[in-house]
This record gives sequence, structure tokens and C-alpha cells, in this order.
Amino acid sequence: MNQVKIGKFIAQCRKEKNMTQAELAEKLNITDRAISKWETGKGMPDSSIMLDLCNELNISVNELLSGEVIKMENYDRKVEENFIKLQKEKEDSDKRLLFTETVIGSIITISFLLMIFLSIFAIENIIWKVVTITIGIIIFIIGIGSCLLIEQKAGYYQCDNCKYKYIPSYKQVLFAMHSGRTRYMKCPKCHKRTWNKKVID
Ligand SMILES: [Zn+2]
Repeated sequence: MNQVKIGKFIAQCRKEKNMTQAELAEKLNITDRAISKWETGKGMPDSSIMLDLCNELNISVNELLSGEVIKMENYDRKVEENFIKLQKEKEDSDKRLLFTETVIGSIITISFLLMIFLSIFAIENIIWKVVTITIGIIIFIIGIGSCLLIEQKAGYYQCDNCKYKYIPSYKQVLFAMHSGRTRYMKCPKCHKRTWNKKVID
């Protein structure tokens, strides 16, 4: 999405309606700083507020996302373009998330092993040994927890039986057997337990 273009379009529509940023903000129950952020291209309206905003400005969501008034004959094409763009942006952000997971996972594993190594070979005092191992385990648990959280949120899992894509609950992900990012889980559609692959699109 071209945020700057969208921002200019929001400003233009607002001015055509003879509204100030403050007036529009009040109608939407948000701060005028949010409006100014959108209009300068520094942020996008949340999907939760998009419909209300479009209502106030008398434009379609599709026009908002395109940053321009769309002629009727181009409408379907634009809808598709915008849909694909949103899809692409979600995919990119999921990919970034999964990369972050890999980085966190590696750091956690290395520091965990380091703590264990230190406590066994380098530290002689028994109390410090216990403290080091405890810290290692805490880092490990927090790390694995946040990795799982990322993995559950990013993209989808695909059922091997019916190919249905879904987002499982955190609990499901936590207790599922896994090999890499492929997890053995029950599909919410066909209710079969299969190895579910992680997919982005
Ligand atoms: Zn299934």
C-alpha cells in the first residue's frame, strides 16, 4: 500500500467535506494526532476503523486503499489489486516474524547451553551452579514460549488430509508433537490428526 498517496487522499476527501482533522477525529472517536499520522503517510487506519472512516468521507474501502477515486469500469480490477497487495503485505510480515523466531530460537538455545556448560565446568560454588542452571532454564522456557507464540500467529497450518488452512490455538501448538515447524495436530474441519505443515499464503 502506498501510505503517502492514501494519506493525501484522506486529507483531500476530508477537506472536500469541509472538516478539520479535529472534527473528523471526534466523529471517529479517536485523537486528531491519529488523523494527522494517516494524512502524512506515517500510519494506516486500523481495519477496525476503516469502514467508519470511509463512511465519513463517502468513499469505498477500495478507494481508500487505492488512494484515489475509482471509476466504475476499473472497480473489479482495483478490488483484486488491493486484495493481492494486502495479502502480500501479510505474507511479508509473516515471513519476517518466522525469521525473528529462528533468530530468537538460536539465541535462546545458545545461551541455554552456555549456562549449562558454565554451571558444570566453570563454576565451583554449588549455590552459583544452581543459580546458573535456574537462569538457563528460565531463559529457555520464556524463549520457547515466545517462539511458539510467533509460530502460532504467523501464517497458517495446513491439514495434510483435506488441505484446509487454519490458525490453531496456542495450547494446541504447545502440546503438539513437532518436527521443525510441522506439527501433528487435529484438523478443525475434517477432525483427522495429521502432520500439518506451516504455510504462509
Ligand atoms: Zn483436515
